[in-house]
Amino acid sequence: MKVVVIGGNFAGFTAAIQIKRKLKEQVEVTLIDRNENFLFIPSLIWVPTKRRELKDITVPRRPVLEKRGVKFVQTVAEKIDPDKKLVHTQAGDFSYDHLVIATGPKVNYDIAPGVREHACYIGTPDKAMQAREKLEAFKKNPGPIVIGATQMAGCMGAAYEFLFNIEKWLRDQHIRKKVDLYWVTPETYLGHFGIDGMPLGESMLKGFMNMFHIHYKTGVGIKEVREHEVELTDGEVLPSNFTMLMPPFVGVDLITNSPELEAAPNGFLDVLPSYRHKKYDSVWAAGLTVNVPAPFTQGAVPFSVPKTGYPSDETGKIVAENVIRTIKGRTDMVEKKWGEIPGLCIMDAGKKEVIIFSNHLFKPRTFAIMLPNVFYDFGKVMLEKYFLWKLRHGYAQLP
Ligand SMILES: Cc1cc2nc3c(=O)[nH]c(=O)nc-3n(C[C@H](O)[C@H](O)[C@H](O)COP(=O)(O)OP(=O)(O)OC[C@H]3O[C@@H](n4cnc5c(N)ncnc54)[C@H](O)[C@@H]3O)c2cc1C
Repeated sequence: MKVVVIGGNFAGFTAAIQIKRKLKEQVEVTLIDRNENFLFIPSLIWVPTKRRELKDITVPRRPVLEKRGVKFVQTVAEKIDPDKKLVHTQAGDFSYDHLVIATGPKVNYDIAPGVREHACYIGTPDKAMQAREKLEAFKKNPGPIVIGATQMAGCMGAAYEFLFNIEKWLRDQHIRKKVDLYWVTPETYLGHFGIDGMPLGESMLKGFMNMFHIHYKTGVGIKEVREHEVELTDGEVLPSNFTMLMPPFVGVDLITNSPELEAAPNGFLDVLPSYRHKKYDSVWAAGLTVNVPAPFTQGAVPFSVPKTGYPSDETGKIVAENVIRTIKGRTDMVEKKWGEIPGLCIMDAGKKEVIIFSNHLFKPRTFAIMLPNVFYDFGKVMLEKYFLWKLRHGYAQLP
């Protein structure tokens, strides 16, 4: 049996190692990723302010995978032919009995004019380093800053984290008094996060905004970003010497180049609660690749759900278990809708943090709590160290 996994970060890495670990010689597992190294994306928020270097948050994949018996191929997958069970890549074709697609997102910088040219982004290594350069230039010429998320964005949490880190950085640089800091978001209220909030979340976020003297605007989108201005969809124009926006995520080209997969309009894949493709039994999706429609009432400006690390890892495990069961001839599948996965996240608030925990990501929930820690971001740092340790050793079975 041949299993091919495309994408080897959170979801794909977990799925590949778990399948090989449990099926051993019964299966040949190949993981394809365009990058040689694993990247701990959540810590990218610390790269622009020099709290982390890229080398601190990358782990070479190949030795870990090879030690676990998974074949690693560094190449770009270009097209999937699910009828012939073939993946076309820049390094040739790969046939499979089961295919796991865990390719994460492509960033839609074209959501509004000027976002691509004038706004920084912090979610890729290159862009995080560009943001660092821009902050260095900004230090010499401080002025207003706009940070936020565009219409259709879903990863608002990371933008909030960057906002509070920048606020702390401005104080560390002794230029905070020279800077008007603005937060703009399509969320209908502060702390919605694309999951319809958490108990006390809105008041906690309002408290942070007041404490740090941050101006904020909810329920707005971006009309245009210019070199020194951000025009909002409600017509207001904010001056800005440094702009960072979280654009929406869409599916990667591999998926849109494979029309047989019948992706949702946003390029992500609709799957069954077992994370199996609705039409092709041998195709599975995990992590950010899964299409998750927003379960809440939209305001005037639409936005999406966040697809964070914990559910990405969890769906990687569910897919692994279901592939294993299918190979063993079983038909009973593990099923867990995205919104029923527990919510577990730590939001950094600039050497402070908020721990977010709930029994379900989406409402209805029977348990949900947001715990602030105003002394230090120990939890966030511990989580980073734990993940990097887990990755270096390939302990995909751990939570
Ligand atoms: C700035 C930022 C901060 C975040 N902070 C947090 C946080 O604090 N907590 C949290 O839980 N989540 C956070 N997230 C979300 C988290 O990073 C994602 O949930 C997680 O990365 C999703 O994992 P994934 O495996 O589905 O996709 P990804 O991590 O995006 O991995 C996809 C992999 O697929 C590969 N790939 C893509 N296309 C191809 C192709 N055609 N051929 C070959 N390989 C390909 C890529 O190289 C990549 O390795 C953050 C995200 C961002 C952007």
